[in-house]
Amino acid sequence: MRKRFKGENTRAVHLPAPPVPVQASVGTPVWRTSAFAFAGAQEHADLVHNGGGYLYSRVDNPTVDAFAAAVAALEGATVPDVTAQAFASGMAAVSSVFWTFLKTGAHVIAPLALYGGTYDLIQDVLGRFGVTADFVEMGDPGQVRAAVRSSTRIIWAETLSTPTMEVADLPALANIARASGALLAVDSTIATPVLCRPLEYHADLVVHSATKYFGGHGDATGGVVAGRSALLEKIRHTRIATGAMLAPDEAFLLRRGLETLPLRVRRQCDTANQFAAAIAKHPSVKSVDYPGLQGHRAHDLARRLFDTGPEGTRFGAVVTVTPHGGREAGLAFADALRLAKPATSLGGTHTTVGHVGTITHAGTDDALLLKAGIDPAAVRFSLGLEDAEDLIRDATEALDLMTKINSVARADTVTMS
Ligand SMILES: *Cc1c(COP(=O)(O)O)cnc(C)c1O
Repeated sequence: MRKRFKGENTRAVHLPAPPVPVQASVGTPVWRTSAFAFAGAQEHADLVHNGGGYLYSRVDNPTVDAFAAAVAALEGATVPDVTAQAFASGMAAVSSVFWTFLKTGAHVIAPLALYGGTYDLIQDVLGRFGVTADFVEMGDPGQVRAAVRSSTRIIWAETLSTPTMEVADLPALANIARASGALLAVDSTIATPVLCRPLEYHADLVVHSATKYFGGHGDATGGVVAGRSALLEKIRHTRIATGAMLAPDEAFLLRRGLETLPLRVRRQCDTANQFAAAIAKHPSVKSVDYPGLQGHRAHDLARRLFDTGPEGTRFGAVVTVTPHGGREAGLAFADALRLAKPATSLGGTHTTVGHVGTITHAGTDDALLLKAGIDPAAVRFSLGLEDAEDLIRDATEALDLMTKINSVARADTVTMS
């Protein structure tokens, strides 16, 4: 028997290790460790060289793997050979696709109504590395086909784009990608697999900001990419090299969120449907953008691509409401709401709003906004889990207030003239 080390610091650091349980747990354990232990130096060396276990949490972590595997199961429910890689944020997941499959001189086609963070990445960051891009309407395959060049490597789409609620024609885009030797990568954050699984329409990769509906409670940040395992191996390599790994605590929250994803999203879609229909009738409202509305330009495409449940087709839970009266009216409307709170994120249990012109498209002047099909008054709602009647009442009361202000303003103009 060798003599024990007696120093108090040594004893504090080398406390007995927790036993590895023989029973599996119902919940996902949080493997909150940066490194994994080995019985000896040879076992360590074998794993470094041959793989087949855990080594270091920037490389792989069991809690993060559990989250990634859960996403692969949801997005690849009916598609063989789907795996996923998880990232520290949605943007880390988005950028991993570009870092993996582009090089200097490559060309990207992306939506006109693109998520701001992805637009900045393509224009400001990738542009410095000699990557060029064209921005077109993804609901119009003709525009996409016309933008293809011999250097096109990625066609980037969003299943649903906010704030205009464009829908990407995924089957047509997959055909164009195939014919041109490009990859079709789809940001499906706003749609979630509860509405649509792009891999089933032959997209090569599907990307999510897990911060939104996957976590679903506004308390965790993460991202994920899913697709065929051969492509995901390459993305994994980028993830390890760039250090964009998800933290185990976040992975725990995001994976737990997935267990209620269908329940939450179906309910949120249902609420959004009722909300959009009710608010569109208000006299202070100029327009409502929601693919669930008959008149929306993406209505038919959404019906074709999105799942239908007992509650009808699921059109998503983001609704953009544009009141009459321009930029000021939009800000005043967002301000007058009581339940719906101004916040940058979406997809959580709380209903959140953002005045598009000052938040997601800050710095874009009115003329440019209008060119992108966005009214300077537009307010984007992410419907949460509150009761639909209360959310409708909240928005209606805020709009009533504005009708009053507008009529006072009109009365003033009349008296003055
Ligand atoms: C939020 C969001 C992202 C970025 O995700 P983060 O987790 O904030 O990095 C990407 N795409 C869409 C559509 C988003 O809504």
